[in-house]
Amino acid sequence: MIPFSPPYISKKAIQAVVNVLQSGWITTGPVTKEFENKITAYCGNQKTLCVNSATAGLELMLRWFGVGPGDEVIVPAYTYCATANVVAHCGAKPVMVDSGADNVNITHESIRRAVTAKTKVIMPVDVFGIPCSYDEINSLVREPEIMKQFHPSNPVQEKLGRILVLSDAAHSLGATYHGKRTGNLTDVSVFSFHAVKNLTTAEGGAIALNLPAPFNNEDIYAQLNILGLHGQSKDAYSKTEKKSWRYDVAMAGYKMNMTDIQAALGIAQLEEYDDILRKRKYNFDAYTNAFRKYDWAVLPVYETGQFLSSFQVYDLRIKGITEKTRDKIIDAIMEKEVSVNVHFQPLPMLSYYKNLGYQVKDYPNAYKHYAAEISLPVFYSMTDEQLQEVIEVVTDAVQNNL
Ligand SMILES: *Cc1c(COP(=O)(O)O)cnc(C)c1O
Repeated sequence: MIPFSPPYISKKAIQAVVNVLQSGWITTGPVTKEFENKITAYCGNQKTLCVNSATAGLELMLRWFGVGPGDEVIVPAYTYCATANVVAHCGAKPVMVDSGADNVNITHESIRRAVTAKTKVIMPVDVFGIPCSYDEINSLVREPEIMKQFHPSNPVQEKLGRILVLSDAAHSLGATYHGKRTGNLTDVSVFSFHAVKNLTTAEGGAIALNLPAPFNNEDIYAQLNILGLHGQSKDAYSKTEKKSWRYDVAMAGYKMNMTDIQAALGIAQLEEYDDILRKRKYNFDAYTNAFRKYDWAVLPVYETGQFLSSFQVYDLRIKGITEKTRDKIIDAIMEKEVSVNVHFQPLPMLSYYKNLGYQVKDYPNAYKHYAAEISLPVFYSMTDEQLQEVIEVVTDAVQNNL
C-alpha cells in the first residue's frame, strides 16, 4: 500500500529527541525557547510562542482578544473543523464565507459581505499551503468605513481599534506571498505541527506574533505564556531557579504549552525544511506534468508571480464530476493499494454545523471544490516508482469511471 502521509523523521531528529530525553528536562524549557527563536528567524515575524497544537494556539489568541458570546468571527466554509470549533469554544458565532470560484481560499469580496458591527476577528485559512490575498484583507480591515463599524468591548480591542486578522496558517509554514513568508503577513498567524503537516512535532503548533505598534509583541508573548499555562506567574522551568518556588495565579488559564521533546523534533525538522519543501514541490511537479495532458484534469495552482505554496496538499480535481463519481474513483484507487484523501468536507456538511442551521447550498464554491477533489500522496520519502504508480492508478480509475 502506498500510504497517504507518513511522517518524515530523520536520524538527526531522533537523536535530538533522545538528547532531550536524557537531559533531565523534558517539558517546556530551553529547547522550546530555541525552537521559538528559530521559527521567528525563519518567518521574519516579531515573536513566536510554541503551543501544543494549532487549535490551542488559535483559541488562545481568541481568548486573548476577548472574543465571546455576541461576537462574530469570519471563517471559511472550506476548512478543517478546528478553525470554526475554536470560535464555538469561546461562545462566539463562526460566520462562514465561501471560497472563490477558482480559488480554494476565501476572497476579500466574500469577507467584505460578511462583516457586521459584531465582527471581531477574521480567520483566513491558507488552504493547502496557498497564502490568502493578504494585501486586500489587510487593507479591508483598515478601511475607515469598516473601522467605524468595529465596536471594541475591552482594552485590547480598543488598542487595536479594528478587526484582528488571525490567520490559520496550519498548512502554510514556508509559503511566501510577495516574497514574504507566512507568519509575517498578518497580525497573528498560527502554524500546526500535527503528524500530517509538512513540519511535525507529532502534535504541536506555534503562534507567530506580528501585531502592529503600539502593541509590544514581547509583552504579549509574556502574557500568552501565562494565559496558556494555568495563569501561573512563572512556568515550571523558571521555578527551578533558586528562591523561585513561589508563584501566583491571577486567572484560570489554559494548559497549552509545548514540551522540549516536541521542540527538539521541531528544530531538527526546521533545519531540514528547505529540503522537505523541495521534495514536496518535486512531487507536485511530477503530478502536474503527468496529468496536464488530460482534459479531465483540473490542476492546482501552487506557484504564481504573487505567491509560492508550501505544498501541503496536492488537490487534483476532475472536471465536471459529481461527488458520487468522485467517491467511486476513490474506491477504485484504494482498491489498487494507493491511499488518497479528500480535503475538505465543507463545515456546513458536518452534523454539528448542519444542526446549527448552516447549509452547504449557501457555499456553492466550497461544495464544488470538495465534490471534485482527490488529494494525492506527496510525502517526503516517496520514490519515483511510487509517484509513477499513483499516476497510473489515478489515471485508470478516472478514465474507467468517467
Ligand atoms: C491541521 C489543521 C488545523 C489543526 O491543527 P492542530 O495542530 O491539529 O490543532 C487547523 N486548521 C487547519 C486548516 C488544519 O489543516
